[in-house]
Amino acid sequence: MAVVSAKAGVKNAFTVDVEDYFQVEGFASAIDRRSWEGFRTRVGGSTSLLLDILAAHGVHATFFVLGWVARKHPEIVRQIVASGHEVASHGMSHRLIYTQTPEEFRRETHDAKALLEDLAQKPVAGYRAATYSITRRSLWALDILCEEGFRYDSSIFPMRHDRYGIPDAESEPHVLTTPAEASSSNFRSRCCATRARRFRLRAAVISGCSPTASRAGRCAS
Ligand SMILES: [Zn+2]
Repeated sequence: MAVVSAKAGVKNAFTVDVEDYFQVEGFASAIDRRSWEGFRTRVGGSTSLLLDILAAHGVHATFFVLGWVARKHPEIVRQIVASGHEVASHGMSHRLIYTQTPEEFRRETHDAKALLEDLAQKPVAGYRAATYSITRRSLWALDILCEEGFRYDSSIFPMRHDRYGIPDAESEPHVLTTPAEASSSNFRSRCCATRARRFRLRAAVISGCSPTASRAGRCAS
């Protein structure tokens, strides 16, 4: 994640979810995802505008790109990389994580990462779930993110909300213990078993709004 200093002692991270206006969860009850192809997209134009603004101010950012967008507009990913920003994953389908099975989540997460890495020609290290939907009932997703090669996650919002959030989650970036590592630690204490520490994941907590490229100024969801 790109970090810039706003003033001495304060670090700020600027991140963007690259998705289109018809894909947000707030419209899910009114817009069937099978109709997405029929909508006129705006995400290309708004991303270009945002890249120009960031360049004018010398700011580097992390762009969590939805796989659906990357597949339809690969030039957006290339433009982000060429502008010197980090490309990270926003999944493939924008389905809430806790509505997917672990197998479905693994498949689409793997496919989206492979697509982005092919377009960016560099490893993708970061992940942010649609609508921040890694909650207490979908913590299993963290293990899959580790196994798929992600190095940090930005999906756990430390607040109370009807769709997302873990209110008592840490509000600063931190290293967290995933469910599999926790269970392996318990096992280790009983049986002296060893297990690779691959289930460590850095959590990048975003405590403010994260505007989407297509809806600058409003919270991504
Ligand atoms: Zn989103």
